[in-house]
Amino acid sequence: MNAQVQQTSDQPDESGHFGEYGGSFVSETLMHALEELREAWLRWRNDDEFMARLDRDLAYYVGRPSPIYYAERLTQHCGGARILLKREDLNHTGAHKINNTVGQNLLAWHMGKQRVIAETGAGQHGVATSTVAARLNQQCVVYMGETDIHRQAINVFRMRLMGAEVRSVTSGSKTLKDALNEAMRDWVTNVDDTFYVIGTVAGPHPYPVMVRDFNAIVGREARKQMLEQYEELPDALVACVGGGSNAIGLFHPFIGDRDVAMYGVEAAGRGLNTEEHAASLCAGKPGVLHGCRTYLLDDQAGQITHTHSVSAGLDYPGVGPEHSWLKDEGRATYVGVTDEETLAATHALSRMEGILPALESAHAIAYGMKLASEMRADQTILINLSGRGDKDVQTLAAIEGLEL
Ligand SMILES: *Cc1c(COP(=O)(O)O)cnc(C)c1O
Repeated sequence: MNAQVQQTSDQPDESGHFGEYGGSFVSETLMHALEELREAWLRWRNDDEFMARLDRDLAYYVGRPSPIYYAERLTQHCGGARILLKREDLNHTGAHKINNTVGQNLLAWHMGKQRVIAETGAGQHGVATSTVAARLNQQCVVYMGETDIHRQAINVFRMRLMGAEVRSVTSGSKTLKDALNEAMRDWVTNVDDTFYVIGTVAGPHPYPVMVRDFNAIVGREARKQMLEQYEELPDALVACVGGGSNAIGLFHPFIGDRDVAMYGVEAAGRGLNTEEHAASLCAGKPGVLHGCRTYLLDDQAGQITHTHSVSAGLDYPGVGPEHSWLKDEGRATYVGVTDEETLAATHALSRMEGILPALESAHAIAYGMKLASEMRADQTILINLSGRGDKDVQTLAAIEGLEL
């Protein structure tokens, strides 16, 4: 790795470095699989037939384009900039994650791999992968920590309804990072017929670039819709950041638009000054996690720390390397929103607009509301509403002491 390389564009170098971040820190045995994937992605991304098929699937299966919605009552309530929402919650299966699995599963199909595997924490990526696998008649195995299997029983059952096999991981803390290790082990062993579908813009090269490219449909659409419907670009973009795929998907097509400010919102949990949060960019430092160099949360002994967030989808101790680079470059700003602020925003959007946001997305809503109130009425904020909150109804009820 060459830390001297100064990036001038928003593309990584040949080995996937965004400045000093990214790369591929994996065992020798995985290098071959990653190289094969990189070559396949370079080939198919330039193939007209592949891209036409992808566009059709995004339109007729996912339901794209998703609209941009003017949240008028919320705007009046905040008393500042106009608040617009990019409605990724209206996609098939309820979030942006399917933009990526439609792409990766299709790539697997073109590479002749009949078996797809995935890791999942809260279960949302597992659901998105098994959904597309069912349609493409692919064998699908999802690795999930035993602890998460109990916490997310509904998503586990949903994956099984799609014909996927959910494998319980009982090593380590029995959560996402252990599921990830198991999935890697499976991939090394079965690389000839197996494709590993990663759920966010993290992991070794080429995953951060490939997953970004699949999710960038969000920003490409939004940019076009803004120009067509509002005849201007927004003054600011806001998106929540777990691994960072919905945020980079919105941000990326706007990176060259220097007047468009970008805010990534991390989970501040019980507060950035406590140890119970998941804000790698706001409170972490650079290191190596899951095959790439990026900001992460660890303790003084270098052990990855246990994270906390009311939203399971933001509960990750690392972040995609491109965000680390955008932070250091100063092109994007990263902030934290607490559990409490998130819940208030969830209720505000529900009552004022009749839209129940996913708890992840409610982080972006909370910060967007704060930002709007500090901006002028002739300015515009575009918030990525990454998913719908149906999956969080039980969590919300439990917070109010109700058991559904
Ligand atoms: C998984 C998830 C996220 C977090 O993942 P990113 O890769 O950071 O986008 C955000 N919102 C929703 C609705 C999710 O399901």
